Amino acid sequence: MSSPGDGPISLVTGANKGIGFAIAKGLSQLGHTVLVGARDQTRGEAAAADLRTHGGDARFLSIDLTNPSTVTQAAAWIDQHFGRLDGLVNNAAIKLEWHPSPPSTAPMELVRQTFETNVFGTMTVIQAMLPLLERSPSPRIVNMSSGLGSLALSTKEGSKYQQRPLLSYNVAKAAVNSLTVQFANELRATPIKVNAADPGYTNTDMTLRTGTRNPEDGAVVAIRLATLPDDGPTGCFFDERGPLPW
Ligand code: NDP
Repeated sequence: MSSPGDGPISLVTGANKGIGFAIAKGLSQLGHTVLVGARDQTRGEAAAADLRTHGGDARFLSIDLTNPSTVTQAAAWIDQHFGRLDGLVNNAAIKLEWHPSPPSTAPMELVRQTFETNVFGTMTVIQAMLPLLERSPSPRIVNMSSGLGSLALSTKEGSKYQQRPLLSYNVAKAAVNSLTVQFANELRATPIKVNAADPGYTNTDMTLRTGTRNPEDGAVVAIRLATLPDDGPTGCFFDERGPLPW
């Protein structure tokens, strides 16, 4: 009989709500021990308890992407309890500009804050977790991106992405796409696969509940990339329907 921790160990950041919670739930249902990364203890504990209620093995792990010491401590905790990490889903992010606005007037402070979380925070988590991922037989890293971060889609004449200028969020997601490629290239000779996911326009707090998809739908592509077979792709960008252009 298997016991908690026998299956894959996966960390999802920003897993207390929205798409992150749906990813955590999906991985939990697939038998993963899910580490619910959250910056707020009460919200994180509640999400982990919810997953356990549904039969999963889930633990809250305190991670604030803007506070590197929480990331270091989280890595040390995983090392102590499991000695490895099989899946890392970098889901946590912020969007501080609510409505599209001309890049020429975007407040620079919002751009800086967004990069601090979405880009530097994500890089910090990857660097801290890599030694643990290297001890897994089939490690997977998934970075939550967005079609809004795609240069190819944003320059496509008449595309919906061209109509939504959000200097802070879109440029940060383009950087997430680039860091996905950078890490994938470094790790290409290893079993670690690094891919980016676009969940689609999803009904969460980030979209003020205006999304057209539910969080479970938004989670599908990330769950698929977090459980890729060993001959799966690396250094690619996907939505639920297949590959997306960078
Ligand atoms: P939500 O705003 O609903 O959830 C974001 C999560 O990130 C929350 O758990 C939040 O925690 C957490 N978070 C934010 N800042 C930090 C931080 N500094 N440290 C740790 N956690 C943090 O967003 P969604 O679920 O909609 O989005 C999930 C991912 O999908 C994001 O990367 C987003 O950019 C991407 N995405 C979403 C789309 C959509 O339509 N919703 C479309 C395309 C991409 P807290 O509860 O404490 O705020």
